Amino acid sequence: MPDLATHTQPGDARASHARRPVSTWLLNAVLSDDPKQRVRIGRSLLATFVYAVGWGLCEFGLRRWQLSHAGVRVYEITSLLIALSYYGALRSGWNRRFQDPSLTGSQIVAAQFSGALFYAVMSPVRGAMLSLQVIILFFAMFKLKLRGQLFVSVNALLVMGVTTTMLGILWPQTYDPTTELVHFIVLLTILPPVSLLGAQLTSMRAKLHQQKDDLILALAHIKTLADRDELTGLLNRRCMRDMIMHHVKLQSRNGSGCSLALIDLDHFKRINDSHGHAVGDDVLCLFSQEVRKVLRETDLVARWGGEEFLVLLTGTRVDEAVTAMERVRDGLAQAAGPQQAPSLRVQFSAGVAELMPLEAMDKAIERADEALYRAKALGRNRTELALEPALTGGPSDAVNVSSAS
Ligand code: GH3
Ligand code: MG
Ligand code: MG
Repeated sequence: MPDLATHTQPGDARASHARRPVSTWLLNAVLSDDPKQRVRIGRSLLATFVYAVGWGLCEFGLRRWQLSHAGVRVYEITSLLIALSYYGALRSGWNRRFQDPSLTGSQIVAAQFSGALFYAVMSPVRGAMLSLQVIILFFAMFKLKLRGQLFVSVNALLVMGVTTTMLGILWPQTYDPTTELVHFIVLLTILPPVSLLGAQLTSMRAKLHQQKDDLILALAHIKTLADRDELTGLLNRRCMRDMIMHHVKLQSRNGSGCSLALIDLDHFKRINDSHGHAVGDDVLCLFSQEVRKVLRETDLVARWGGEEFLVLLTGTRVDEAVTAMERVRDGLAQAAGPQQAPSLRVQFSAGVAELMPLEAMDKAIERADEALYRAKALGRNRTELALEPALTGGPSDAVNVSSAS
């Protein structure tokens, strides 16, 4: 059903903007107001938080364990540059030009290098810092597929392998080679399974996304099945009734008139009998297409029964509705017949009624039906106008509008 008109006034958007709380404004400024960008930036800021904890630990370590001053500064500057670069890339929207706009892979690789540096800097407690490499892999969990997961896992092992080896060789007094070897073996044992788990999570998430898309498609299909006639694709009877009700409400609100036309194909049984049911079906489809083609986009057409159709002509007075029916009649006379019987022409009779203010929908359809009955009785291939409700009497009240050719 189309939405009823909303009552937004000019200036409403500005007013609601002004009413926004400061916290919302701040969140939009820091994280952007695009929900997808917000998630990406939020994740990147989470990584920055981990870096920031590292900066605090460094400052503490400088006093407590006399860490290398130069080493600490190199770590702090490198990680700060990484954090700022990614925040800038994400917040400016530059990330959108990449296949993976979250820049997960490169952020992880950068974090792995900075994690290795942090491990080296925090020499007395570096064992505890091994967990950083695992935490970094968590960031890949929801994003990277198996190949990506294996890549970041191998990269972590390479970076940490080179780091532990170099530290053990260059400064064996500070970095005991056996301890370095144990640290590396710990990572070698932990990181690959973490990556495999991450790949499983990513594929589960992808499957969920796929299922959600399939569900949306299925729902749209069900809606089409529920609203449309299977053969002609026109609205079905149930949906048409809803639509008319909706228009009756609209009409009572804005005072615009609308009319109903009940159409019945003439001698359709003969078409079936002489050409077969399949040709009959084709004729129904061709007729539906022709009606749709000739009428306005805003007019609604439904298959009301077997070879019976109901048209709702919105914003149309009854005399204009009659003219519209005659346009359909002319169009039909010129349209090609079905493939199996191209010379076959179909004709129809119609009864047209204007929906009166406060008139029940069924009453108006009944009046159109009576007019249709009269069109049939008067020789078919014609349009008859329904009488106004108060005047409705018997078939003798017929008002002939168009004659059979
Ligand atoms: P009239 O001019 O009085 O309306 O005569 P008619 O032959 O059109 O009306 P009648 O009610 O005698 O026959 C309607 C025929 O429409 C009978 C029925 O088999 C056929 N019909 C109904 N639905 C379908 C359909 O989906 N496909 C086909 N091929 N025929 C249908
Ligand atoms: Mg009929
Ligand atoms: Mg018929």
